[in-house]
Amino acid sequence: MKLRAKIAIVTGAASGIGQASALAFASEGAKVVVVDVDKRGGEETCEKIRARDGEAFFDRMDVTSEAEVSRMVGETVARWGRIDILFNNAGIVLVKPLEETTEAEWDHVLSINLKAAFLAIKHVVPHMRRGGGGAILNTGSIASTVGQLNTPAYVASKGAIALLTKSLALDYGRDQIRVNCLCPGITDTPMLREHLGGGPEGEANIRRRLSRVPLGKILKPEDLAQAALYLVSDDSVGITGITHVVDGGLIAAAEYDVRI
Ligand code: NAD
Repeated sequence: MKLRAKIAIVTGAASGIGQASALAFASEGAKVVVVDVDKRGGEETCEKIRARDGEAFFDRMDVTSEAEVSRMVGETVARWGRIDILFNNAGIVLVKPLEETTEAEWDHVLSINLKAAFLAIKHVVPHMRRGGGGAILNTGSIASTVGQLNTPAYVASKGAIALLTKSLALDYGRDQIRVNCLCPGITDTPMLREHLGGGPEGEANIRRRLSRVPLGKILKPEDLAQAALYLVSDDSVGITGITHVVDGGLIAAAEYDVRI
């Protein structure tokens, strides 16, 4: 078991990549705090973990509230005594040109995708330091490394989280706290469907995107969960400050289209 006796917090764990990662961490022995605003999905994640004899509890909370983050971290330590792993995965996308984006929309995207990581790391690091180290994993995107059409607030948040990751890897290295950033490509989750649209139009969008993916397939949340497991476990003990891209090869080339 790669995470035996480890205590892990996973945000956005009610759905998609977060749920798959919470399950993967628990099957490797971690006790998992499932954090999300979605009650039904969060409870479902915990039930799935318990059905496999794992341990989890659901904390329904908004990751953008410092008061709630502080309370959740305090309760985790009161319950399980320590924190070894923090996966800042909760995120949202906004598909809208910059001129049509309201100030409130901009702030909302940046709050969930960027500020939430600042808050969680701020409150978790003292406990990791006391415990002798830890692993923090932030969630970027292929949009952490290249631009993307029609999603300026999202891309700004994902670019920023990549450099926040590198900076904190420097700040916390001597505390043996590793900080990395997982950058998913096209992954089949509710967020992807929201980004690319539903129905036949959504399917056409996905096919068009996949024509640019060398591996030619849409990734599963479990594919990302395996990469997350690697980055929070001792398998990656020498790795900190990286953006780990899992995208089926999408950003390997400036131009690539299997129809050519
Ligand atoms: P998802 O929509 O399936 O899951 C996101 C979860 O975050 C949801 O359960 C949602 O309730 C939760 N969440 C949103 N706002 C919250 C808040 N304020 N407080 C607490 N929880 C909140 O999406 P996903 O595709 O699994 O995305 C996970 C991460 O992966 C995101 O950061 C996303 O940007 C990133 N990502 C996804 C893709 C993709 O193709 N799916 C690509 C690149 C990056």
